[in-house]
Amino acid sequence: MNRLYKVLLILTAAIATPVGLAAKSAFFGDPPDNHHPWAVHDHNRPLPPVVTPAANIAQPPSDAIVLFDGTEVSFHENWRHNRPADEREQNWIVIEGALQSMRGAGKLSSRAELGDFQLHIEWRSPTEIVGQGQGRGNSGVFFMGSMVEVQVLDNYKNPTYADGMAGAVYGIMPPAVNALRPSGEWQSYDIIFRRPIARDGVILDHGSLTVLLNGVVVQDNTPLEGGSGHKKRKPLDRIFPELGALMLQDHGNPVRFRNIWYRPLRPRAIDGGTDGQLTEDSTFTKRCEIAEELRQHAQSLEGLQKALRLLESLKYEENTDARAEADKLITLYVAKLKKIAPLEMEAEKNQVLSLDEALQYMQRYKLIPNDYPISSFVNDLAIQQGWKANK
Ligand code: MG
Repeated sequence: MNRLYKVLLILTAAIATPVGLAAKSAFFGDPPDNHHPWAVHDHNRPLPPVVTPAANIAQPPSDAIVLFDGTEVSFHENWRHNRPADEREQNWIVIEGALQSMRGAGKLSSRAELGDFQLHIEWRSPTEIVGQGQGRGNSGVFFMGSMVEVQVLDNYKNPTYADGMAGAVYGIMPPAVNALRPSGEWQSYDIIFRRPIARDGVILDHGSLTVLLNGVVVQDNTPLEGGSGHKKRKPLDRIFPELGALMLQDHGNPVRFRNIWYRPLRPRAIDGGTDGQLTEDSTFTKRCEIAEELRQHAQSLEGLQKALRLLESLKYEENTDARAEADKLITLYVAKLKKIAPLEMEAEKNQVLSLDEALQYMQRYKLIPNDYPISSFVNDLAIQQGWKANK
């Protein structure tokens, strides 16, 4: 990335802050309500951060956390054996840029503890076809320790039970289709894991897995049903931890893994985030936060600009002081307007139109009274000057 581009990215990020730039259309979409702290098309809503996608979509984008890049260093930095050294017959190995499961090595755990995340992982069953059914190329990607498994299996032309096929949420849901490549070829998983959320022992969200196998959706928001079990169902109210390791299974077959990376997902509304519909309480808290930022920003402005910023803050939260100050500043501005000679009025065009837009909006949504006296004066002035149509 060249330097100029980096500077542009930083500038873009700075502009994205809620109060970094006076919004052009602050008075535009439907205002905040009880479940939406932001207006529709709200310029104060933080912009998503810039992420640079990789040239090849299998490669990690700029914000991914890489768990295995093909090197010994990355293996030792990011993974540990579950079984103590004196209890395992072998260790997992790095071979030809891949991490290989070895019989008797036991499961491998990520050192990182993960919550909700997007995962990319590629795997390959042995090129020499050995065994059948669940005994061929079996491994697995486990979430939150061993709470739930997305099965890894070479079931290409190798029938087995449906909820144990590659792409199955093991013991819970078969893959929608069998999109495997032939035995011994690299396969890819792109997985979105949403953990179950419990509070005070009550499950509020049962969690889900979305899985793409070789780019084909095989699990679409599949509920976790308490997690995976071999032969037995888990209780639906099984409590998952908040964070847990990603684990790779040793099922006795030398399955290889490569190109493993993840991206944490933004917190859901149920988990204190703003992804999804918020409760009235958390919406109110967020609206007050946004209003406070706008009032703070208004302090760095003067005159009409300050008044507009204060008016804008009233969309999010009523505040007597902010309203009084906005009224005072608008009154002063209008008094100044009334003294301007007609020939010099053109210089005020943008200011007047901004004020008119704001007042019309605030009236439409009953944020200022319908008989707000200045409103009709500003509207009439804009029409007389030919700056807006007389509707
Ligand atoms: Mg398995």
